[in-house]
Amino acid sequence: MSRVLIIGAGGVGSVVAHKCAQVPEVFSEICLASRTHSKCEAIAAQIDRPIRTEQVDADNVPRLVGLIKDFKPELVINVALPYQDLHIMDACLETGVDYLDTANYEPPDEAKFCYKWQWDYQQRYREKGIMALLGSGFDPGVTNVFTAWAKKKHFDEIHTLDIIDCNAGEHGRPFATNFNPEINIREVTQRGKFYEDGQWRETDPLSVCRTFDFPEGIGPCNIYLLYHEELESLVKHMPGIKRGRFWMTFSDNYLNHLNVLQGIGMTSIEPIDYQGQQIIPLQFLKAVLPDPGSLGPLTKGRTCIGCLIQGVKDGKEKRCYIYNICDHEQCYREVKSQAVSYTTGVPAMIGAMMMLTGKWRGKGVFNMEEFDPEPFMEKLNIHGLPWVEYDGDLSGIEL
Ligand code: NDP
Repeated sequence: MSRVLIIGAGGVGSVVAHKCAQVPEVFSEICLASRTHSKCEAIAAQIDRPIRTEQVDADNVPRLVGLIKDFKPELVINVALPYQDLHIMDACLETGVDYLDTANYEPPDEAKFCYKWQWDYQQRYREKGIMALLGSGFDPGVTNVFTAWAKKKHFDEIHTLDIIDCNAGEHGRPFATNFNPEINIREVTQRGKFYEDGQWRETDPLSVCRTFDFPEGIGPCNIYLLYHEELESLVKHMPGIKRGRFWMTFSDNYLNHLNVLQGIGMTSIEPIDYQGQQIIPLQFLKAVLPDPGSLGPLTKGRTCIGCLIQGVKDGKEKRCYIYNICDHEQCYREVKSQAVSYTTGVPAMIGAMMMLTGKWRGKGVFNMEEFDPEPFMEKLNIHGLPWVEYDGDLSGIEL
């Protein structure tokens, strides 16, 4: 029986609130707090259990500390934006409360993400006797757990890891992103990066493309190499990995729009003067693009996110592919969100459950692959994200 404070009432926060409410034996009291209070109230109204709601600006650490002291949660789940991570970690440190998030810190004025800023809290969290679990979404999150599971069950050594994220859904809008547009476009337009033989290698944005034949009727799609944060923690915690890459599908339509927007400067994060005030083009673009939350009732199709892994077991080369398929319309029927928010919010709830039930415990700052994957994998099957270990022939796949 635990009290949990969820910060952020966007697409992911809504799913986390719905899913925590489904498990009252773990999450006995829930408070949903965000910058815009009406969004918290709208989510609470969809849930058939009373949920406390609060307005909070998480960048205002004293205010947030006040809310934490008043509600007295055992855990704060941060599903606001990556910009808030350090402020929320500071508030948890001051109040001695555990912390969980789904995306690593990004400074607002630089499109760069890395774990250093959050790993730097290690000593302070240890000394305070509290725990932070970083990246408990799908990717990062479940992909880290899939990799840890593969290592535990199938391999003595993992040599190559390819994380492949496919959204084969259609929302019918000319151009939209399926999670926060600002964060999404910053991620997609930065230089690609992958790990090979102890080094990070960079590529031009979206310049490396392959085709991957997705299972269960989704079929072949173009996948593009991107840099994604779980690569940083996985190669640190699993030093045997010789090559780690991350791939994502994009439709030609998405890429055409993105090219034009980039070409005319609309994705820039450099402030410009506009009619006497400073605006950031990407933030203006976010304001005119569809709110990802509004795509829920429109999106059809499925997502397929998984890990293709090659390595050695008992001296023999071996491959495995572990994936989840999630249906946008089914998610909407259950929690009024599309699958991208769902596949992030469910693992956030399960990570919280692991911490609160003592299955995953420690003092300090942790990534998902540092814990036993088994109880997490079991809960994925129960709480809406069943996974599959592909049993077909993987020998011909070359990426
Ligand atoms: P949204 O933009 O839909 O929601 C973000 C919410 O945070 C909004 O309600 C926003 O408030 C609130 N917020 C922003 N700033 C503050 C602040 N200073 N104080 C309090 N609340 C604030 O984003 P998503 O729900 O799509 O994404 C949430 C997080 O999930 C992001 O960090 C994203 O990177 C991560 N993510 C992780 C994935 C994974 O697999 N690991 C995949 C997808 C997303 P307001 O409504 O006022 O704007």
